[in-house]
Amino acid sequence: MSCIFCRIANGEIPSATVYEDSMFRVIMDLGPASRGHALILPKVHAADLTELDRRTAEGVLPLAAQIGTAMKKGLGCDGLNLVQNNGAAAGQTVSHFHVHLIPRYEGGPDMVTWQPQPSEKEELEGLAKAIRDAM
Ligand code: 5GP
Ligand code: ZN
Repeated sequence: MSCIFCRIANGEIPSATVYEDSMFRVIMDLGPASRGHALILPKVHAADLTELDRRTAEGVLPLAAQIGTAMKKGLGCDGLNLVQNNGAAAGQTVSHFHVHLIPRYEGGPDMVTWQPQPSEKEELEGLAKAIRDAM
């Protein structure tokens, strides 16, 4: 098993664990974006979202809600971002699907943001069609 997150998720490498069940381990991120930044790791390897099996995918969001609720209570955060990077172009540095749970605090740094660009109706329709036709 060469994948670092496979080894962490399956307990071969120790980690600060928040939660564990037969499918997932939730750990503290080693390089946190904010106080309490955690990662949901499936125990079965999938490089990214496009490779994730349906059962694992269906388990992720309820678990994120459960951990997010506990973060609000246990850390006193005011909000929460879920971040999930797919591919190097999107900022993925570890090729094992994971979801970032980033607690947010009032007055804290603005870290997950983008600059909205103008759009044309026809362009949006064309883009929607390009994706729809590939499904
Ligand atoms: P990505 O950029 O792939 O979406 O996120 C990878 C995340 O994993 C980063 O936030 C990084 O800090 C974290 N990370 C990388 N290696 C380790 C590790 O060995 N242990 C833990 N706990 N976090 C890691
Ligand atoms: Zn892996």
